[in-house]
Amino acid sequence: MNIQQILNKFHEIASNPAKQKEVYIAAGKQIVLTAPVYTPEEIVHSMGLVPMGAWGADITLEKSKEYYPAFICSIMQSILELGMKGVYEGVSAIIIPSLCDSLKCLGQNWKYAVPSIPFIPMTYPQNRANDIGKTFVKASYERVIADLEKATGARFEETALFRSIEVYNKHNAVMRQLDHVLTSHPEITARQRSDIYKSAFFVMKEDHTDLVLQLLDALQETQPGVKKISVMISGILCDSPALLQIFDDLDIQIACDDVAAESRQYRTDAPTNMSALDALSEKFARMDHCSVLYDADKKRANLIVSTAQERGAKGVVVVLTKFCDPEEFDYPIIKKACEAAKLPLLLIEADRQMDNYEQARTALEAFKGILEG
Ligand code: SF4
Repeated sequence: MNIQQILNKFHEIASNPAKQKEVYIAAGKQIVLTAPVYTPEEIVHSMGLVPMGAWGADITLEKSKEYYPAFICSIMQSILELGMKGVYEGVSAIIIPSLCDSLKCLGQNWKYAVPSIPFIPMTYPQNRANDIGKTFVKASYERVIADLEKATGARFEETALFRSIEVYNKHNAVMRQLDHVLTSHPEITARQRSDIYKSAFFVMKEDHTDLVLQLLDALQETQPGVKKISVMISGILCDSPALLQIFDDLDIQIACDDVAAESRQYRTDAPTNMSALDALSEKFARMDHCSVLYDADKKRANLIVSTAQERGAKGVVVVLTKFCDPEEFDYPIIKKACEAAKLPLLLIEADRQMDNYEQARTALEAFKGILEG
């Protein structure tokens, strides 16, 4: 396949998860939804099940309003809305982690609003890096395994988990390589970049790895496009086609990211020198630089500055999911760090119900002017 064909393939997968769901079910596979963030997909994968990301969708909220107040993030609301409207029918279970207050509410609401799809909680501790934290995480994984066995009839085996950890570590490595390569390919648009990351949630990771490797080979043979003004984006999610189209209309390249649905997923590998479940707990213990992971030092802000500087990004655009407390708490710290580094910063609020981003267009136009000045 040439570059365009590979990019089309990513787009096809990213824009039609329902089709992916049908294909897997028709092939006799059982699907387990994995809600954000850091849900232990490796366990699901090792049991012969298909882990499929559930990050909500850009839809109008109707039924989920019965369960949520208006001031809660639209990712959670739209996941519940999709569940209540039957979009996920046919899947075998949903795993919802407990990393923010909204996620905790989603799990509890799910039990009543979508009783046809079993809810499996994944409870994480705040202090994850000490022995007690790791023991707690391991015990939570063991309970997730028991719940998965009950919901699907599939069986867990440690040797299979070792193999899945290898698959996920390889995918992480390939995604990290891609992240660097894309910085020097401004011809890849913001929308195409988003498709590559988003598609990873809807296919088996080994298949996504193969597609990304094909893209990397094709990019190696390609002369980079004309240089553009480039920025780093940060936030939980940045997949709105309408918003990304503005970056493309204004010829602004997304050179790198600190987005929970994108690069943050791939920063940490599971070690391979311990039992498979210990390795997964250790992976979670080593994760850092994220708004939903407890960090008294808030090192994330400095990572954003250093990454933007290393990659030649002229500024940082924080895409703040409305009503996301963890991201709102981090913003002043990011602002301070960017100011200290004289790195221009722009805040854009977004949610899954917005279809008009004209305010963001005006802000990005002005921001581009500052970066060019
Ligand atoms: S971290 Fe933020 S965006 Fe994610 S579920 Fe929680 S409130 Fe919503």
